Amino acid sequence: MAGKGGGRPVVGVDLGGTKIMAGVVAADNRILGRGKRNTPAKEGGPAILGTMLECVDEALDQAGLARKDVVAGGIGSPGPLDVDAGVILYSANLNVKDYPIGPELSAALGVPVRVNNDVRVGGYGEYVLGAGRGYSDVLSAFVGTGIGGCLILGGKIVAGATNNAGEIGHVVVKAGGPRCGCGSKGCMEAFASKTAIANRLVKASKKRDCPLGEKIQRKGRLKSGDLAQAVREKDPIAVREVERAAFYLGVGLGGLVNVLGPQVVVIGGGVTQALGQPFLDMIESSARAQIITDPQKLIKFAPAALGDDAGVLGASLFAREMIAGG
Ligand SMILES: [Zn+2]
Repeated sequence: MAGKGGGRPVVGVDLGGTKIMAGVVAADNRILGRGKRNTPAKEGGPAILGTMLECVDEALDQAGLARKDVVAGGIGSPGPLDVDAGVILYSANLNVKDYPIGPELSAALGVPVRVNNDVRVGGYGEYVLGAGRGYSDVLSAFVGTGIGGCLILGGKIVAGATNNAGEIGHVVVKAGGPRCGCGSKGCMEAFASKTAIANRLVKASKKRDCPLGEKIQRKGRLKSGDLAQAVREKDPIAVREVERAAFYLGVGLGGLVNVLGPQVVVIGGGVTQALGQPFLDMIESSARAQIITDPQKLIKFAPAALGDDAGVLGASLFAREMIAGG
């Protein structure tokens, strides 16, 4: 349970493909200090560890604490991982292979460190401290560069027989649809991730006037804020692409709700944060169109509540539970 573990602070780290964020978190789950750096994504494991330690020290500094004051650490990392050994087995985004990030951070800080899948860590944070608080059955979806998910049933993360369950982004929502990064076709991620939306906008800009598509080409990527601004300004192509993404997210989530019966569907991630409630409403309406298991509309659709802190807080919860559970 959160709150146990001797009352001393722990460190939570959110290791992302573009940013590393660290937080020093008190026993009452308040973040006492924060650190943030760009991920040295091309330089390999030791560079990532070094930057991670800078983030941790910055967070400790802000909290007025030192490394000796914390009792455990947690890391949310992209994977695949060997969770028990604390090893990142492989990550194309981080240019890392078989790197023992958990043991390395543990050695540097002198405390035990627990590593877990980044999406699961964020979903667990939302479950305990955010939009899933008070529920026991929570389906979380995070829409950003990709689409990640975390399923909690009966208060437990569902990891499946292979420990890889929860990959909601790769539910096929249209057989034979667009090619997905995973090699399959028609996955939810291939329709509704920021990457998918950006590809469509760039394509559109080659046929007609599409300022956002041109901007993506200039910047080399789509910023969620730019997408939201184009929608606010009623750019017809951006509006259409966002509606399309919401529709397919709803198709995927509606099917999952029919099978799993969560009490709440929590939707977060950078794209969702930027587009806000209208985007959530479109997703819910598309999902409801096919949900047959909830005639009384008891199942809630809720925006994620922790924003960028979900990863840091979730990682800190895993750290605290590790020392509490022994
Ligand atoms: Zn896929």
